[in-house]
Amino acid sequence: MLSFSAVIACSTPKNRVLQANHTPVIRTDTVKINADAVDLPPVTEALEAQQAVDIPVVVTTEDQVREMMRQGINKGADWTETIHYDVRKPNFVIIHHTAQHSLNQTIRTFQLPHTKVSSHYVIGKDGRVVQMLNDYLRSWHAGRSKWGNVTDLNSVSIGIELDNNGKEPFPEAQIGALLSLLDTLKTKYQIPFTNFIGHADIAPTRKDDPSVLFPWKRLAERGFGVWYDESNLLPVPDNFNHVDALRIIGYDVSNLRAAIIAFKRKFIVVDTGETLTEFDKRVLYNLYRRYF
Ligand SMILES: [Zn+2]
Repeated sequence: MLSFSAVIACSTPKNRVLQANHTPVIRTDTVKINADAVDLPPVTEALEAQQAVDIPVVVTTEDQVREMMRQGINKGADWTETIHYDVRKPNFVIIHHTAQHSLNQTIRTFQLPHTKVSSHYVIGKDGRVVQMLNDYLRSWHAGRSKWGNVTDLNSVSIGIELDNNGKEPFPEAQIGALLSLLDTLKTKYQIPFTNFIGHADIAPTRKDDPSVLFPWKRLAERGFGVWYDESNLLPVPDNFNHVDALRIIGYDVSNLRAAIIAFKRKFIVVDTGETLTEFDKRVLYNLYRRYF
């Protein structure tokens, strides 16, 4: 679910122009940062120094990545470059519903300057998959969140938004497209199956997406996320600690009530109250024994 309070109509501000005859656009795949480059003015300063021109040219993603790479160099240390590296890969996938009314509305939301929210992918009800950010860049979809000891989910995850108002079923075409995308991402980045989770899992006090209508069991059967063994729900032992089990699975139990509700919305569905019944505890115990 998106995190801003309201989309307010506004005019897009004029963008400053990075004039090609002064500062050629450098593609990231050709950028070489070295000791000399550290002394160059940052891109943002270079932009400030340029005269604003009233034509709609934007600073490219490559420009912004170049600036971020510059900021990643520690000026308090000596610099000499190794030749062995690649880029950091996503290790989680966070699934959302948009709580909006159309794919186009969400795409526009992620392109308006003031909203400050985004995701890597948006999937329409018809199964259309729209990518809005390179997988290797950090989109702003998770917000304040925690899963296990990971406290900055945006830095380690890919965000996928499903066009859904939060009250309607997820169409087959949309789920089919999601499963195909998840398969690609899991294989490409070697993402553990336990790390396919929902926004409500990582932000239980703030979020409830994807809704109770989302087919988590079906995803788990395809290798994305976890589900309990419905044929083997053993009684819980006397010393079973449900708070520890929730925490070990990943939930932030600092607000136990919110963690329990998030757990029940995902795994129990028909009862989303704030206490664990004997059946709920059997489900939790089963998950805990099965995967963790
Ligand atoms: Zn969300």
